[in-house]
Amino acid sequence: MKEYPTISLDRFDRENLHARAYFLSHCHKDHMKGLKGPLLKRKLQFSRTVRLYCSFVTKELLLSNPKYAFWEEYIVPLELESPTQILLVDEASGEKEDIVVTLLPAGHCPGSVMFLFEGSQGNVLYTGDFRLAVGDASRIEHLHSGSRVKDIQSVYLDSTFYDPRFYQIPTREVCLNGISVLIGNWISQSPYHVVWLNCKAAYGYEYLFTNLGEEFNTQIHVNHLAMFKNMPEILSYVTTDRRMQIHACRHPKDEEFFQGNRLPCGCTAPDGTPLRIISIKPSTMWFGERTKKTNVIIKTGASSFRACFSFHSSYSELKDFLSYLRPVNIYPSVIPLGRTLTEVTQMLKLMCRTSLISSAIYKPLGVLKRSRVQRPH
Ligand SMILES: [Zn+2]
Ligand SMILES: [Zn+2]
Repeated sequence: MKEYPTISLDRFDRENLHARAYFLSHCHKDHMKGLKGPLLKRKLQFSRTVRLYCSFVTKELLLSNPKYAFWEEYIVPLELESPTQILLVDEASGEKEDIVVTLLPAGHCPGSVMFLFEGSQGNVLYTGDFRLAVGDASRIEHLHSGSRVKDIQSVYLDSTFYDPRFYQIPTREVCLNGISVLIGNWISQSPYHVVWLNCKAAYGYEYLFTNLGEEFNTQIHVNHLAMFKNMPEILSYVTTDRRMQIHACRHPKDEEFFQGNRLPCGCTAPDGTPLRIISIKPSTMWFGERTKKTNVIIKTGASSFRACFSFHSSYSELKDFLSYLRPVNIYPSVIPLGRTLTEVTQMLKLMCRTSLISSAIYKPLGVLKRSRVQRPH
């Protein structure tokens, strides 16, 4: 970050090897580059002050993977919404800088947070990956001092969908409701009617599992659950017992299995009755208009469906968030598909405070139309 260049967020290789502190917003691979690198491991062994800061849940998920086990003694988990002072020390020169960091829930996957930094170079918000609904920013206490919005110098933004093409993505509740209706109609027909949720191998679908588990008073079959051993809210809705009507299990040849009308786990009915399986693939669906579309389920084959599900804020959600905060600068972390960095930077300028002020500057009226000068060839 321009304001605090001695810290590194979600990137752990190359010049980041010299950072005085590390921050991990959530456990997705594209935010963990270099995190298991031998160079970083050696740096930690020789350092007395360099630590990795993240949420308690992110720490738990990270350490559940043995490749990251060496981080254990260098991680400082922080509570959500409790400002913490961190001393950034240059170990060679002894130079020090104080910074206050606050973790804010990001609504992206278990453990995901935004980082708010407050220090001598101003207030800076790093969103990580996030999905907030319209109006959510006004409910985040630490973005306010008293009743006023804090003066935010820069936002480092998850700009995945900052493009009018992605104007509207149905809300989490609307998507979940569509999926629930589809599943309910299917599994209520007989115990042999089962559903396979075709989820990618990444954190973020747990919200779906817990809500479906609650709704249908069941557990979801998954391959692994050890990482949730200390998260009862999630753990109670997932199981490695295959005798379930809802599956989110995976197999290297998932699609092949499903074509053969089998579940990835190979589960069959104990009495030999063939299972009737539908697949639902959570996918991001967007609508370019403001109108509220309700078709959050699309049939893509005889027994396969796509269901709307998004881990990232839509264009209108991002605009709502930014127009509430009105930061001086906005830096995109992601370039939307088919766009260029220049384009997205230009588009984000419109949401910056200076742009709002300059557009309000009085321009003298009454300029006369000039006749067009014809240049000789
Ligand atoms: Zn992510
Ligand atoms: Zn299964």
